[in-house]
Amino acid sequence: MGDAVPVMAPVQRDIAAHTMGADYCQSPDCQINYGSGCDGNQKPSGVDTSTIARPKLGKVTYGSVGIYDCVNSGDIALTFDDGPWNYTGDLLDKLAKYQAKATFFITGTNLHKGQINDPSTPWPSVIQRMAAEGHQIASHTWSHENYSQLTTTQFQNQIYWNEIAFNDILGYFPTYMRPPYSICPTNTCGSQLAALGYHVVYFDLDTEGYLHDDPTQIQVSKDIWDDTVPGTNPCRSNFLQIEHDIHYQTVYNLTDYVLTSLFKSGYRSVTVGQCLGDPSENWYRAGSNAVPSYTFTPRAATGTWSCLTQSQTSTGTAPTSTLVVSSEGNCGSGITCQGSTFGNCCSVNGFCGSSINYCAPYPVMIQFLLRLPQEQHQPALFKSQLTEAAATDLRVLALGSGIAALNTGSVEALTTIA
Ligand SMILES: [Zn+2]
Repeated sequence: MGDAVPVMAPVQRDIAAHTMGADYCQSPDCQINYGSGCDGNQKPSGVDTSTIARPKLGKVTYGSVGIYDCVNSGDIALTFDDGPWNYTGDLLDKLAKYQAKATFFITGTNLHKGQINDPSTPWPSVIQRMAAEGHQIASHTWSHENYSQLTTTQFQNQIYWNEIAFNDILGYFPTYMRPPYSICPTNTCGSQLAALGYHVVYFDLDTEGYLHDDPTQIQVSKDIWDDTVPGTNPCRSNFLQIEHDIHYQTVYNLTDYVLTSLFKSGYRSVTVGQCLGDPSENWYRAGSNAVPSYTFTPRAATGTWSCLTQSQTSTGTAPTSTLVVSSEGNCGSGITCQGSTFGNCCSVNGFCGSSINYCAPYPVMIQFLLRLPQEQHQPALFKSQLTEAAATDLRVLALGSGIAALNTGSVEALTTIA
């Protein structure tokens, strides 16, 4: 989902991005097929991971055509590719300052930075810090090669060797990856990655920091963000954004702008796994160590336009409910989704959730109500379609979104329903 509809298909855009900037392609300083000395042909030291079982846990798709959208409304997953790099530590400082959580698609050896698990480099501690501060760590392959130029064995090494390095640093390795250049044909690469137990993640918002890495140009990236995110409804929208932490203006200029706007616009800053609703234990596979439990709670949105419970908290205008909060995901007959762990919206079928399938009918009905002259409001019509709890949710949504100030009659009609 997500409101962003890229003008150019994401795959095309990423190919353009990576071919325009030479620094992206300096995984090796020579082509992988023409020299054993190339960075990409140097296997990292560490325990082999290729024999570790790869059960496909959770509901998120493995391999196949890949993932372009978040699932949970109100979530924005910021992602950073190609690092870690010299700016990544400062980026982590910034994310901590905003209490934001990002996902890093990490390349094992590129830009002549050395191998990420080489203890003589800063990278092992930078990656350990990412994990310790609640960011998600994902793979962007060992040396950022183009899938279409690799043999099957070379491609498997691109996956396995990054796993060896991750396991050496963390004791576990990711189940999420993004293909370099976004090149990953479904029937070959996609099926190979499914067999290797990977979720293939693309994006639906590219703010193009790589194209505008200049103080006079980075405003273009801010404009892309501003044209896409602010003003959208976090009750119905989400975004899976792509950036690269190897670019100065992206880290030191654009990131502050994006994070300020993100929270102000009523969104949460979460990892890719969170925005897909995937339990954190599925984000990684155990290697030398078990996968640690994830204990971070996303910072609440602080904007004037936020969704449901956040509106209640920030405005204090939500009506007091005598309904019982759902403990099993059902709603109706005196059970409300408000404040439940399943999501705040009660679907027309009587189940709690936070995606568009659960929440969309209410804004649509409010808009319908607002379009009608007051004398034509037909509470009975809506009453026949809404459970009691859903009607309460609808009133909360109407109040929280400021519609009450626009049309008191509509809210009165809804009050009548509930
Ligand atoms: Zn890349």
